[in-house]
Amino acid sequence: MERLSNDERNEIFRRVEENIRVLKEKAGEAAVRSGRRPEDITILAVTKTVPAEIINHAIHCGMTHIGENRVQELLEKYGQLDLSGCKAQIIGTLQTNKVRKIIGLVEMIQSVDSGRLAAEINRVGEQKGVVTDCLVEVNIGREENKGGIAPEALDELLGEIAPMKAVRVRGLMAIPPICETASQVRRYFSQMTQLFLDRKGKTSDNISMDFLSMGMSADYEEAILEGANYIRPGTALFGHRTYPKLR
Ligand SMILES: *Cc1c(COP(=O)(O)O)cnc(C)c1O
Repeated sequence: MERLSNDERNEIFRRVEENIRVLKEKAGEAAVRSGRRPEDITILAVTKTVPAEIINHAIHCGMTHIGENRVQELLEKYGQLDLSGCKAQIIGTLQTNKVRKIIGLVEMIQSVDSGRLAAEINRVGEQKGVVTDCLVEVNIGREENKGGIAPEALDELLGEIAPMKAVRVRGLMAIPPICETASQVRRYFSQMTQLFLDRKGKTSDNISMDFLSMGMSADYEEAILEGANYIRPGTALFGHRTYPKLR
């Protein structure tokens, strides 16, 4: 991002603050409409491409969880972030060779989708003496080239993870396919909730179903109405992402 003038910065800060207020209000209303309390919904602000200065402003405005897709981007910003009242997470595809860099640094990894990845999180965690909270990502739309496991593979993966003492599964995450209508996306959310509730009855030592992470800027209200208790808005808080121009 180019250097901002004070006026530009103030304008962005003002908008982010207003966006947070509106999003909290709408998420809270959806929670109440679905029989829960606003505080039952955790909001994770997705900060990919957002400069540290603006992320810090969102944190000062009350965001307590932020998420990055890429390890490299998280590490580049990490030292500049004011994480005294906020925790960082990884929400995107994670390569096993990057695991070592983030264990102990992140609050949760939302994108665990293989036994191999879980085993590496466990191995590094045991070396460092750190237990890492994770969500298992489910590819609910069965899309090719998308992260996540097939819904029917969930039990097997959780069975593999059960003996891993440095991995603690806290729930499920999903990114449904891009849908034309709200009712289509709600069907995917509802399938996820069913899977989540089915699995909730069968918890073990290191596997619990506390968080169902689904819903992004365009559909977080639908996600909450269908049972999400963890949402991941980015654009709705920070505006459209501006990627650096290629030279
Ligand atoms: C980018 C991203 C989001 C946020 O998407 P928006 O449409 O900007 O709200 C949420 N979850 C994941 C996994 C993402 O990669």
